[in-house]
Amino acid sequence: MKTPFAVISDLHANLEALEAVLADIDAQGLGEIACLGDIVGYGPDPGPVADLVRERATKAVAGNHDWALINRPLGFNPLAKDVIEYTRDMLEPKFYHLFGETRERWAYLEGLPTVLEEGDLAFVHASLRDPLMDYCFGDRHPMWNPKQLEEIFPKVKRICFAGHTHYPAVIRDDAVCWYPKDDAPRFPLEAGRKYIVNVGSVGQPRDGDPRACYAVFEGDAVRYRRVPYDVERTRDKIIAIDAIEVRLGDRLREGK
Ligand code: ZN
Repeated sequence: MKTPFAVISDLHANLEALEAVLADIDAQGLGEIACLGDIVGYGPDPGPVADLVRERATKAVAGNHDWALINRPLGFNPLAKDVIEYTRDMLEPKFYHLFGETRERWAYLEGLPTVLEEGDLAFVHASLRDPLMDYCFGDRHPMWNPKQLEEIFPKVKRICFAGHTHYPAVIRDDAVCWYPKDDAPRFPLEAGRKYIVNVGSVGQPRDGDPRACYAVFEGDAVRYRRVPYDVERTRDKIIAIDAIEVRLGDRLREGK
């Protein structure tokens, strides 16, 4: 991919958030987009969100929610599981879908790999130790586990882009962590060091900031963007759908 490019993750069927992020990506003239999965789950608009990813992303990997949609929701809590069933009802081709968009979209989701590499860059939903399920948090989080880094960093060539935690962070190979702020959104990447770059979440941020989050890779630096979107509209859609619990709409207001 040609730098600079955008890296998005954890869209979670939030169309308003994704549209706002794509507009921001376009306004910055970024040509290419890598998507780190969890296209579906939790949110009300899996079809349009999957179609936009298919149309706009240069490359994409599967997240655990995408995997659960195609396979089964292993280890999912009831809250997340109900939304996966709703998503399957919406997206799975029926006998009368002999061909067309529904089948093509399903085939796209079914065909997503779990890891992609390009030179010394890796793209994964969770981590290179467990591409779908591993939570790799920074040191601000109660689940911070520097021990896990000893197993993950040997698999990283230089930079591994990841999502899954919904919490933007850069973790260096010596376990030093950095978090973006509005007045300090850019982090220079030193030569000779390795990094895990968690790009945060477009559709369900959990770092206390409700704005959609994504990252721009500049080759020798990573720059974060926070993009406001119409949270109330997404929450209203969630409230109108029985299979999606209201608290999945409420948490979007808090970014938690
Ligand atoms: Zn997710």
